[in-house]
Amino acid sequence: MKKFILCGKINNPGTYNIDENRSLIDIFTKLAGGLWNNGRLSMVQIGGPFGEIVLLKDIENPLSDYTKNIDTDTILFLNDLTCPVDYARFCVRYLIKELRTTNETIEEIEEIIEKISNGTSKRILELDILKELLEEKTVIPAERKMKKTVLFLLNNFREIFEEHITEKKCHPGVCHRLASAQCVNACPAEVNIPGYVAYMAEDDMDTAYSVMRQANPLSYVCGMICARPCEERCRRGELEQSVGVRALKYFASTMALEDNKIKEDKLESNGKKIAIIGSGPAGLSASYFLGRSGYNVTIYEAEKTAGGVPAIMIPEYRINNEAINREIKLIENLGVKIKTGVKVGEDIKLGEIRKANDATILATGLMTGVKVGPDKEYIVSAVDILKEIKLQGKRNFSKKVTVIGGGDVAMDAARSIMRCGSDVTVVSLEEYDGMPASHEEKHGAAEERINFLNGYTINKYLEEKDSLKKIELKKCISTMDSQYRFSPKFDEEKTIKIDSELVVMAIGQRADYSYLDCDIEIGSDRWISFDKNTYKTTAEDVYVAGDMGGYSKIAISAIAEAKKVAISIDKALGGQGIYVGDEIEIPEKQLDLTTWNIPKQEEKETESTYRCKNFENIKVVYTREEALREATRCMRCDRNSKQ
Ligand code: SF4
Repeated sequence: MKKFILCGKINNPGTYNIDENRSLIDIFTKLAGGLWNNGRLSMVQIGGPFGEIVLLKDIENPLSDYTKNIDTDTILFLNDLTCPVDYARFCVRYLIKELRTTNETIEEIEEIIEKISNGTSKRILELDILKELLEEKTVIPAERKMKKTVLFLLNNFREIFEEHITEKKCHPGVCHRLASAQCVNACPAEVNIPGYVAYMAEDDMDTAYSVMRQANPLSYVCGMICARPCEERCRRGELEQSVGVRALKYFASTMALEDNKIKEDKLESNGKKIAIIGSGPAGLSASYFLGRSGYNVTIYEAEKTAGGVPAIMIPEYRINNEAINREIKLIENLGVKIKTGVKVGEDIKLGEIRKANDATILATGLMTGVKVGPDKEYIVSAVDILKEIKLQGKRNFSKKVTVIGGGDVAMDAARSIMRCGSDVTVVSLEEYDGMPASHEEKHGAAEERINFLNGYTINKYLEEKDSLKKIELKKCISTMDSQYRFSPKFDEEKTIKIDSELVVMAIGQRADYSYLDCDIEIGSDRWISFDKNTYKTTAEDVYVAGDMGGYSKIAISAIAEAKKVAISIDKALGGQGIYVGDEIEIPEKQLDLTTWNIPKQEEKETESTYRCKNFENIKVVYTREEALREATRCMRCDRNSKQ
């Protein structure tokens, strides 16, 4: 046993007597109590700033593997908001400032890392120079340890170092010269949130909406359904409550879209033609950015309704198609043609489309619901059910329905079927708090009296005369392995039975590749193969956008990636850059300390006892007074930043 200090953003920091044979994961979960706010662990450092760094893949190793030659008896747990570049910078500065050790090589190392961190490094080559300097031999022990630590970070997080240089991006928002306001940094589309909120504070909703649209052409849609990563990272939220960014966006969009007054200019036609397969958030956004930039864009949509997941799957009570159509209309105003009810592969071959266009974007998403179990009518996918409810108006379901899954799609299916009069139970592998659905969706479902059976999965279907009567569930004892990989384990002895006549599977979705030409390859991981920088598939003229590429988990990510795809196509076709309108000057903020006294204007929903009986929109838009008050709560963290 030896005394160690456990530190970092953990729930139980302090000094502990620890048996060095204990594994790091055991120490982390049982002594440290995990990270604050259920944060995700990214690495562990043992023995002070130049101590051994342990990556997640090695976290089951015993502590004793890392305690030889350590300077201090500390174990530091770092979360996923730790930037390896910033950490490397800290190590070098610690050597120079705290240990007062420096020489020409150390200064050169410091200069390169500083440039990477502040965005002035221009060449990836600098990383090779840095590596050479770090590998240079030295007789000074502290310098040797610093080099070992920084080299470890560079070797294991090289992609992040490269991203700082090429994209000038620091995802955790730690390298402050690269990070704008935290909300902007957290938003995949980097929407200028403080910029539009500033216009809202001046009661100019039209300009606020124009600021949003420069990065997000589906701002009204996002005002209703965005997962709002910005609010999670809002600086004001660290001090009291975050700014209600989504509700503000919803208000400004609602006002700006009244009376069809938004007019957008575009560049003159450059004669180049682009085809987009799929009209979801990715397809529509790509069409907007390319359409404004002078391309002739045609979208092919298999469904009779344009809009993708928000239009055909997300329930009416969260977003109605009239709202989606308003922003689709603005895109059509740019000359984008949308051909609905055209199934590529059946009504027209992809090859034919490619021949007629300079570039083609595949953006058909993940629209096939995954089902497991026997091929029975009483087992259906959530995707099919949600489409039937939204597009065909289906309202009659069995009395007892079980939804399998713990994500947002499961919540959408459960809440929709419940609105049709069924008694719905959600069965998820995860405990309630660990379910992947957003807190908002889970909470909404619970308020509407959806039943939850957490920590179970389906084991048997119990029929009577070919109809389902009950299902048997077995207990799930854990869902993840120590490296946060999905790996559920069950107790086969612990089972329960519940009444059920219909089982709705919400356990995942996959892409339909049946219409692809043979020169477009699918990788061994079953995702479409494409270049991560250009989004180009193995066919020179075909690009991929949105969920289909496997990188967009939420609508705003699909929108962000679509812009990158548009930029890539524009570059490949010799364009002049993507046009999103003239630069909009953002109002200067006058420091006003009285705004500290303004309480958060809560985003309201209709009463659960009322809303659970119908498909009416549950979101209540701010009043103008509420919106103005909420807008003034923004601290304008964009000042002194890169924006
Ligand atoms: S206070 Fe305003 S600028 Fe700062 S993070 Fe929050 S929304 Fe963004």
